[in-house]
Amino acid sequence: MSEHPPAGVVDDVDYEAVIGLEIHVQLKTSTKMFCGCALSFGDPPNVHTCPTCLGLPGALPVVNERAVRFAVLIGLALGCEIAERSLFHRKNYFYPDNPKGYQISQYDVPLCRGGRLGEVRIHRVHLEEDAAKLVHLGQSGRIHGSDRSVVDFNRCGTPLVEIVTEPDLHSPEQAREWLTLLRATLRQLGVSDVNMDEGSLRADANVSVRPAGSSELGTKTELKNMNSFRFLERGVRAEIARQVGLLRAGEPVVQETLHFDPSSGQLTALRSKEEAHDYRYFPEPDLVPLVVEEEMRSAARSELPELPAARAERFERELGLSAGRAHELAFRGELGDYFERALAAAQPAQAVELANWIPLLVERIGSDADPADSNVTPESLAELAKLVGSGEVSRDAARTVLTTLVATGGDPREIVTREQLGAITGEDDGLGELVKRAIADDPDAAEKLRAGNMKAIGPLVGYVMRATGGRADGGEVARLIREQVAQRG
Ligand code: ADP
Ligand code: MG
Ligand code: ZN
Repeated sequence: MSEHPPAGVVDDVDYEAVIGLEIHVQLKTSTKMFCGCALSFGDPPNVHTCPTCLGLPGALPVVNERAVRFAVLIGLALGCEIAERSLFHRKNYFYPDNPKGYQISQYDVPLCRGGRLGEVRIHRVHLEEDAAKLVHLGQSGRIHGSDRSVVDFNRCGTPLVEIVTEPDLHSPEQAREWLTLLRATLRQLGVSDVNMDEGSLRADANVSVRPAGSSELGTKTELKNMNSFRFLERGVRAEIARQVGLLRAGEPVVQETLHFDPSSGQLTALRSKEEAHDYRYFPEPDLVPLVVEEEMRSAARSELPELPAARAERFERELGLSAGRAHELAFRGELGDYFERALAAAQPAQAVELANWIPLLVERIGSDADPADSNVTPESLAELAKLVGSGEVSRDAARTVLTTLVATGGDPREIVTREQLGAITGEDDGLGELVKRAIADDPDAAEKLRAGNMKAIGPLVGYVMRATGGRADGGEVARLIREQVAQRG
């Protein structure tokens, strides 16, 4: 009798997940996409408005040149083809956050097509404007519940770039990892705050499943507005499980738009899928075609900074970091920046040692925190790595020093002296004496070691490390033990 795994298990070998992302990026321009209103976050509501972004009759849009430049930068960074001439279209729909009754977007002639970032192909990149923000109030007028809603038009007309991927992702983890790379890339370009909490980076995930080995695409659903990396991963995982469950039960997946509630883990349908014709797209009559001169393209090309994928490659190739460590640092730009600042205060040969200390620092300050904001300066981390590299401080003791640095800042060398954390080395420091005691304490282990059983050294090293509170260098202790055991043999 064959047994199926429980319905809806994500790692179901019989099914493959297919995921494509649509990402909205708020550009960090000083003014809005089609008017001169300032961009703001956190200002009192409705203080940055004008007839154009409020959609009043007769007001005309004017394209923000810097937004176009930023979009071109993004397109180039993603390896897209930049159209010399593209079109703005009206996407018509009614909603209270959309005062004109349409959004100016791009449709069949977008600014950028094609491209690739990592293992994911980019379908297109286009420019559009953001909607206003709906704020849901309770009856009391305070922010909670949704008895009453009010509109804040400050956000209305914020320049947005929409990035659409091909359906090249195949697991929730991969989707999350890739979005991390995209975020780091956009951050490096300096075109956006890319803050998912604040909505300057928003991702919709399109998800389908298909029998393993099939090359046809299954029916997809769309998870709207995942506002954190964790929720994206969890939402996609839940949706894959739901779809596999349906297919196993012989039921079809219905194409629809879903909302994932991170607190309950539930997926609820928002609406059935809308088609392009529902939006009655037509070319924006108040704007001429968008022409990007070669001059702007080549200026953007020369402005391109080193991007995270290239940075990771350089960390591997020039500094000898492992691929995993190189990605970890380069795909979170702030970690890469911090690492490079610390490296400037160290020797290139210490790069690997230094890089190994960054995750330990991150672990202590909170995984989302920027080490640049911590008490630990890059120079002091470099100093700590140097103390370990030279054997002046054991790795264990250095972890204690790091904890102190995170709490109070300061100079690692002073902390080592003050807390008596310096390495115990050589026979002068009594290490030889401790080794002698370890051997006396466990003659069995010593005998096995003498007989060639290398594993027997473990308990002997352990004895010395415990006796020194982890301040001895493990390698040196092992060397002394082997020396003494051999002398006796
Ligand atoms: P729509 O017309 O519904 O907007 P698109 O073809 O424009 O669909 O694709 C929108 C997004 O959905 C893209 O990111 C694309 O990669 C992804 N996508 C398309 N088909 C599938 C599918 N069957 N499974 C998963 N993702 C898909
Ligand atoms: Mg679409
Ligand atoms: Zn305005």
